[in-house]
Amino acid sequence: MKIVNPANGELIDEVDDTTPDGVASAYASARAAQPAWAARPLTERLDAIRGFRAGVVDRLDELAAVLTAETGKPIGQSRNELNGLLPRVDFFLEHAEATLADQVVLDDTANGLVEVISHEPLGVVANISAWNYPWFVGSNVFVPALLAGNAVLYKPSEFALGTGRAIGELLWAAGVPRDVFQVLVGGADVGGALLAQPIDGVFFTGSYATGRRIAETVAGRMIPVQLELGGKDPVYVCDDVDVDAVAPAIADGAFYNNGQSCCSVERIYVHEAVYDRFVERFLDTVDGFVLGDPADDATYLGPLTRPQQADVLVAQVADAVTKGATLARGGGPTTHDGHPGWFEPTVLLDVTSDMAVMRDESFGPIIGIEKVGSDDEALARMNDTEFGLTAGVYTPDEGRALGLLARLDAGSAYWNCCDRVSPRLPWSGRGHSGIGATLSTLGITAFTRPKAWHRRSA
Ligand code: NAD
Repeated sequence: MKIVNPANGELIDEVDDTTPDGVASAYASARAAQPAWAARPLTERLDAIRGFRAGVVDRLDELAAVLTAETGKPIGQSRNELNGLLPRVDFFLEHAEATLADQVVLDDTANGLVEVISHEPLGVVANISAWNYPWFVGSNVFVPALLAGNAVLYKPSEFALGTGRAIGELLWAAGVPRDVFQVLVGGADVGGALLAQPIDGVFFTGSYATGRRIAETVAGRMIPVQLELGGKDPVYVCDDVDVDAVAPAIADGAFYNNGQSCCSVERIYVHEAVYDRFVERFLDTVDGFVLGDPADDATYLGPLTRPQQADVLVAQVADAVTKGATLARGGGPTTHDGHPGWFEPTVLLDVTSDMAVMRDESFGPIIGIEKVGSDDEALARMNDTEFGLTAGVYTPDEGRALGLLARLDAGSAYWNCCDRVSPRLPWSGRGHSGIGATLSTLGITAFTRPKAWHRRSA
């Protein structure tokens, strides 16, 4: 497998894929090692994760450079990802003990009956990960999974392999046994070989198409399957907003990380009363985005991580324009310093919901803005999707916002914000955006099986 820098085509490294036999022996050694890991006091597992966190802090600049080189993520945004990892890890460190503790739900001394819920680890779990936020989406799984006493077979994305290998080094250096956390190298084939092992749970982050295939593959096995998939996340801008503040914030939500976020803003609905001013301010913001070398601190838009995504974006632009959309900015691939791989920040107006750009995940620097006449019309448009990851409403009127958000079929509801994840809140999708939840205390118990204890002393 070749690791190539998408900004300049340079070969960063060449690594052998894990062979099918290697996957099988990784599974066997993880299975053998897991009971001893689970039997250790939780304080030891917490210490290991604390050591991992300290390693990230020590090597932060170097790790950010690795991420930028292999994905094209602008260096400032790579540092933001690593800094954003720390409060997530802290949340798990602070809440693991209370969440994993036995819970006495009845202590009926008169009748000698005690009822207790305990949380047992699943066993050996697969952690198949995406490239767009590899530190976030990986750690949402392996940190709580390890704390709960599982062994983890981690398959990082083939487009974020340097980061995946660094995660392994940091965990091992911090005291997680090599058999308890293993890094499998490869793409779909290696992921498939991993799923063929008798694992005890699958935790996947990636596209709907792959997630569906994975769910179908393991359906008969009766093991927990968690799928964090794509989004087509809408925001609605009401008629009473401060457009000057809101338009730049939403533009950032659409274009940050080149729009390659599951919770990037992918559809914008604007009340007709503020539509013209909103579009003007939005385009001003887009015109200010600096496209350039991702290693440069001033860069906001680097190259697409996967060059082939440009074909999807070009097709969405062509489909929209053919159906009557107006191309206000951008529209196609571009170069930087003679290197291909960038895509112009693209804004489409006069869009309608039958256009691919308003229906299918774009996962790139492209956005459609549609004018609506009322809150009900906005709500109908926002809910008209197979996805259900996040949705946002912008208005100073709390009652209006919360009323609308309650009727939106999405796992995360944003009032006056977007593209935001909190370690304290469950991260979950509905419909084609997935099943299950990571983060919050739900994202700790997700890696356990409950056991119900009926203890009668006489
Ligand atoms: P992808 O589906 O192409 O790949 C994800 C992972 O699955 C990779 O590690 C890949 O090697 C592996 N894989 C591919 N085919 C497989 C198979 N048949 N069996 C087993 N494993 C297989 O997705 P991607 O391009 O890496 O990531 C982008 C997608 O991830 C977008 O749709 C994005 O919205 C989504 N995503 C969702 C979240 C979330 O939290 N909901 C977060 C980040 C990314």
